[in-house]
Amino acid sequence: MNYTPEDKAKWDRLIHMIEETLENSAQRPFFDMFIKPLKLYAVSSDTLYISGDNSFNLTHMKQRYGTMLYSMVPVVFGRRYELEYYPESDIARIVDKQTPAQLNEKYTFENFIVGPSNNLAYATSLAVAQTPGDAYNPLFIYGGVGLGKTHLINAIGNYIKRENPRMHVLLMTSEAMTNALIEGIAHKNTSALRSKLRGVDVLMVDDVQFLSKTKTTQEEFFHTFNSLHDNHKQIIIASDRPPRELPEIEERLRSRFEWGLTVDIQKPDYETRVAILRQKAEEMGIDVPEDVIDYIAQSVNSNIRELEGCLTNLNAHAELLDQPIFLELARTALAGRIGAQATRAVTAELIIEVVARQYNLTSEDLTGKKRSQDIALPRQVAMYLCRSMTALSTNAIGRAFGGRDHTTVLHGCDKVSEAMESDFAFKKKVEELKGFVENN
Ligand code: ADP
Ligand code: MG
Repeated sequence: MNYTPEDKAKWDRLIHMIEETLENSAQRPFFDMFIKPLKLYAVSSDTLYISGDNSFNLTHMKQRYGTMLYSMVPVVFGRRYELEYYPESDIARIVDKQTPAQLNEKYTFENFIVGPSNNLAYATSLAVAQTPGDAYNPLFIYGGVGLGKTHLINAIGNYIKRENPRMHVLLMTSEAMTNALIEGIAHKNTSALRSKLRGVDVLMVDDVQFLSKTKTTQEEFFHTFNSLHDNHKQIIIASDRPPRELPEIEERLRSRFEWGLTVDIQKPDYETRVAILRQKAEEMGIDVPEDVIDYIAQSVNSNIRELEGCLTNLNAHAELLDQPIFLELARTALAGRIGAQATRAVTAELIIEVVARQYNLTSEDLTGKKRSQDIALPRQVAMYLCRSMTALSTNAIGRAFGGRDHTTVLHGCDKVSEAMESDFAFKKKVEELKGFVENN
């Protein structure tokens, strides 16, 4: 937390006004003793944090002048603030502790497992943490849910705070960001957010895909971004998709997201999953045999949060049954999560069923004769998945789709591949469907 130069100027004016008020009164000596030593330490959204010489003087000051100060603040600041006073020796400790710790300390570089799926994101994050504002600005990290974006940006923040305790690192969810932007807009030309962020050295916005779509908020964010960037403040953005696939975000803002470096995180490969499971088991203090680790790593490939979920679940079962963790227990305990997947083979019928369900259609719709666009596309997606997930020939796939010709199947698959190349959101959708099939 901090204050802006405007805040400081207002504060000085306030003190000066008080001095003038007391000038020719018998109280003049008290001004030097009680008021003059007061210093503005920080301004939050609703409170001025003020330091004084010592708590004895502060207590007296509040009794004598507290009400007066409180009522004069709106005259100078144009709005009401709560006032909090602390001795100079304590204020940093007290106030800085009050600011909610947005950073999650448990996410560090040390406990981030690196593999081919995330090594680029890891390396660039580390570079940014080592030279904030310098290396890549902004750093834009994207990747699917549960793949470690939030972990990485927290690791950057924690690293910077550890190496440069004076640096002000602010992590905001895009929801908090939206709220702050709206507050800024409500203050019209005062650009509240820009002022508020002036003291920030590193700004991180998580899940930027949820940033409000309204023009005014985005405009405000645009200015905020520029003012930070111009001042070489590090900006880090996490998103579930790359900038160009954020259709709701204004073009000029989107292009700025690409000014620095854009890196993605992919799904972890098998070895990385094993390494992550081992580490998480150790962190959780539970003993998981290798064959169980292997079983989970083989069965779950969607994301890392899911891997963790399996361990937690397994551990709960073991404790409940008062048993050690072993393979059979894992199979039973995790049956609901991954069991079905292990037993149900991927067939054309399964794919058709899953795709139909996801598009709110029936299997018959997909295998039937209708050619309307809302059916044709899901049908082609299902064909594509059959081609990429099973060993079936195009002829066999054609048969599974109500006796269609193999060229129809080929054509459908090509269309889907092309669309996946050019449309990231669509590609994600297809990958998601694939995941549903795998986990069914
Ligand atoms: P996202 O923000 O991308 O949805 P998170 O950062 O919240 O994903 O990660 C989900 C969980 O997986 C967290 O508990 C995180 O610690 C863990 N995790 C993700 N990637 C890794 C990794 N490479 N090494 C260790 N843990 C990881
Ligand atoms: Mg996240």
